Amino acid sequence: MNSPTAVSKAAVSQSGPSQADATPATAEAPQNLYRPLTVLRSEVLSPEMLRLTLQGEDLSPFDTLDNLHVRFYVPVDLSLPSEWPTADEEGRPQLTKTQGANNVTTRYYTIRRLDVARGEVDIDFVTHGHAGPASNFARAAKPGDRCAMSGPCGFSVKPADWYLLAGDETALPAIARLLDSLPSHCQGSVHIEVSRPGCEVVMPSHPGLPVQWHYRNSNLASSNSVADSPSAAHEESGLSDLPQALASIRFPEQPDSGFIWVAGEYELLRRCQAAALADRNWPKERLLGVPYWRRKADN
Ligand SMILES: Cc1cc2nc3c(=O)[nH]c(=O)nc-3n(C[C@H](O)[C@H](O)[C@H](O)COP(=O)(O)OP(=O)(O)OC[C@H]3O[C@@H](n4cnc5c(N)ncnc54)[C@H](O)[C@@H]3O)c2cc1C
Repeated sequence: MNSPTAVSKAAVSQSGPSQADATPATAEAPQNLYRPLTVLRSEVLSPEMLRLTLQGEDLSPFDTLDNLHVRFYVPVDLSLPSEWPTADEEGRPQLTKTQGANNVTTRYYTIRRLDVARGEVDIDFVTHGHAGPASNFARAAKPGDRCAMSGPCGFSVKPADWYLLAGDETALPAIARLLDSLPSHCQGSVHIEVSRPGCEVVMPSHPGLPVQWHYRNSNLASSNSVADSPSAAHEESGLSDLPQALASIRFPEQPDSGFIWVAGEYELLRRCQAAALADRNWPKERLLGVPYWRRKADN
């Protein structure tokens, strides 16, 4: 029989069935520090994304560009009381029951902005309409609601002069944070897939890394608001031209001076990598491709 500690560690390392499919090999936890958070405010970013600004204490260990992500803790069922983890002596999360049994589960998210002095962290959520606990929590969140995070985890880009950054809207917060931080001499391009025109999000402006948008449903009107119909932006899920766009990009002749970062839905990632890398002989150590989630047959 597992000791309580072993059970707790195992439980915390899981994140629910659908997320487990998409959990990247790269999202190991260099640190695993637990921080209770409360919702300060929410802001609609687009018809399919909203930002939660959360408040917590001692956020400085999360202020790193080497590990951009966290495990985000939310209630499984918003109508039931939750028994939240506590931190052990080393700050790691401890659950008293198997994850889920205490009405708390985790999903991976990206820290979009951190203000250590104010104790604030921004996380940008895709508000998909498929009844996921994290998306549900974000849509219903109001000031004072409780949640938590642990980490930081995941890897980032390697130093380079040329970057190709690409992904769907789940990758958008990481891409935005990278654009905030990459040196101004860097060149390259950024390619982001969203549902349809009108779902773009204001991105940081980088002098050498212009952003190009790609649409899964380029013929859909851009009228839905997240408040009126949170799932509307995801009702159609066509294919964008993102893989073809990546295939046509001119890569640097010296791969050591470049780095490719791609993240998002599993099949999209597979198609992007296949298209971008075909016949290029691009070294795998100059590439980070991470599946962030997986579309099911019914979505
Ligand atoms: C390292 C990492 C960083 C990530 N950062 C972010 C981030 O900053 N912002 C963000 O929004 N997501 C991010 N994701 C993706 C996010 O973790 C998943 O989308 C997660 O499944 C959402 O959890 P949920 O509880 O809402 O849905 P789940 O309970 O996991 O899934 C419920 C259903 O929703 C579907 N689904 C899940 N995600 C989506 C989606 N994006 N669009 C349409 N359908 C979906 C699933 O296929 C499933 O059918 C990240 C993932 C990883 C691995």
